[in-house]
Amino acid sequence: MQITAAVAHGIKAPLTLETVEIEDPRPGEVLVRVVATGVCHTDMAMRDQELPVPPPAVLGHEGAGIVVRVGEGVTGVATGDRVVMSFNSCGACPSCNDHLPAYCHDFFGRNFSGRRIDGSSGLGWAGQTLGANIFGQSSFATHALCHERNVVKVPSTVPLDILGPLGCGILTGAGAVLNALKVPQGRSLAVFGAGAVGLSAVMAARVAGASPIIAVDLVDARLDLALELGATHVFNASRAAVVDEIMALTGGVGVDFALDTTARLPVVGDAVRCLAPRGVCGLVGAMPFGQPLPVDGGHLMSGGRTIRGIVEGDADPHRFIPTLVGLYLAGQFPFDRLITFYPLAEINQAIRDSETGRTVKPVLRMPAE
Ligand SMILES: [Zn+2]
Ligand SMILES: [Zn+2]
Repeated sequence: MQITAAVAHGIKAPLTLETVEIEDPRPGEVLVRVVATGVCHTDMAMRDQELPVPPPAVLGHEGAGIVVRVGEGVTGVATGDRVVMSFNSCGACPSCNDHLPAYCHDFFGRNFSGRRIDGSSGLGWAGQTLGANIFGQSSFATHALCHERNVVKVPSTVPLDILGPLGCGILTGAGAVLNALKVPQGRSLAVFGAGAVGLSAVMAARVAGASPIIAVDLVDARLDLALELGATHVFNASRAAVVDEIMALTGGVGVDFALDTTARLPVVGDAVRCLAPRGVCGLVGAMPFGQPLPVDGGHLMSGGRTIRGIVEGDADPHRFIPTLVGLYLAGQFPFDRLITFYPLAEINQAIRDSETGRTVKPVLRMPAE
């Protein structure tokens, strides 16, 4: 079958809309007509080869849509079901068995390799094989081949076009607070970076009853939004001495929890310096390999402080996405306020606006059939 897909060609190169051939779903696979899909920083990292997905490839990993066909053996979803596409995992390793699929022992192979695990792609273009199966979906396209394991059914009471980012960015920020750090009511949290992940963490912290909820960013508009979504205090790091401000705000003690969404080493250093005794700092930004953290070992050891990595908010998408939809419907998690819609044809503008910070969470709407 022929579909329209945005093809990525390499470092910083614009994506181009192309007519692409997609295979029928194989056993265990699900073909979804994409309604809308979010743009996440990981897409840019893959385009720019920081994560080595060989171009040309179809990226996109925050899709939402309607099941059009299922492969042999699929029982969890059926034609016509509305689904969010999330990250993929094997379902059989120790992490998957513990309902922590973000730490799947084959996470890389099933999300970043650009191929199925048997080495095939599922997408072809102009006589060549296209990189596909990104996060088990490659949803910068009108249709996506997914797996039964990485599609999550969602109710018809929520507009489908806002739901895609629940599959990655929003799940990451909210899950970091609710699943990974498990921030209790009345405890303090500082969130570094007020993009889609950071603002989702702020909203989740309000759900958890954390206090104070501190947001740090370089863009005043994002900090204003953080205040509307639940932050009690905000600091613009381009003007404020953030560590001093946070220490003053907490009576010289520091915060119980800190969350870095920036992956910038000096920011991680600040996040750790702000920790109270027994405080925990979570790292959700995509940290580069091979770079030591700028952390004072004595400060870490003497106060019993912890630093931990967090992938996809420790979430099992089948459990956590319905939780987030429920919070949204209850008016407690207004993640739609982060979203700006673009037509698929404006994908390069959407990416630019995300990179400059003009848009918090771009979502691409697919053309009507
Ligand atoms: Zn696994
Ligand atoms: Zn993502």
